Amino acid sequence: MMKHHSDETQRLEVKQYFEAIKKYAQSIPEKRYPHQNRYIALLHLLSDSVSSLTRKRMEDESEPAACEQGCDACCYFAVITVSRSELDEIRHYLNVKQDEEVGVILKRQWSDWETEKSSAIQPCPFLLQEQGRCSVYPVRPMACRLLLSSRKCSREDESSGEFQSCQKFTRLGWQEMPLRPDTLLKALESQRSGWLDFEPGKLLDEEKIDLKAFTPEELWTMLNPSASTKTQDDSMALSKKVNSPTIP
Ligand code: SF4
Ligand code: SF4
Repeated sequence: MMKHHSDETQRLEVKQYFEAIKKYAQSIPEKRYPHQNRYIALLHLLSDSVSSLTRKRMEDESEPAACEQGCDACCYFAVITVSRSELDEIRHYLNVKQDEEVGVILKRQWSDWETEKSSAIQPCPFLLQEQGRCSVYPVRPMACRLLLSSRKCSREDESSGEFQSCQKFTRLGWQEMPLRPDTLLKALESQRSGWLDFEPGKLLDEEKIDLKAFTPEELWTMLNPSASTKTQDDSMALSKKVNSPTIP
């Protein structure tokens, strides 16, 4: 039964929202966005659009982004957040798209992690540490996609509490975008929870997961194909629907 809310203008129906944006989700190129859930592909495309517009804004303001390939200090942040829907996408990517060699490297890193966890600053479990490369790059979470800094960060910065990054993206004013990534993420999480409607705006803290909080055992299940079938839920069912050729 539909929940009653005092301020209906602030709420959207989940089903209608997804119907309205379905054609956009279906049109995302699979080569760059190889996601099983095409709504997550859309979420990441929108995030990338915000990022590239912000880069341009930063250049215009003579403070170009320092971010470049191989720069990985931000992958050592104290907390690296991901939504449950994006985590499912990462799990699927690791199971289906990831090459065997990367799986071996990740497992080795996680074994080391078990013994070293209490000491040094830990990286994100999906960082290929020797290469300074993200093993799940095409499906990395929105939080990683939006991060931009006008100065080169370093791990030392974080330990001394002086880490400064991601100062710029809010200045883009994504609140004014006709299709906002944060609204889409909220809808995806609402749909997972079985809600009929949702309120755009900030995600609740409990809807975020810290990638660094996983134990090695929990991470290993992500590389186990049988584990992926246990994670099938409404969100995945939705993704299959979007991919279905019967949809015009
Ligand atoms: S946020 Fe900092 S560490 Fe991350 S890519 Fe940009 S400059 Fe490098
Ligand atoms: S998911 Fe990838 S980009 Fe994001 S913190 Fe982890 S290694 Fe870095």
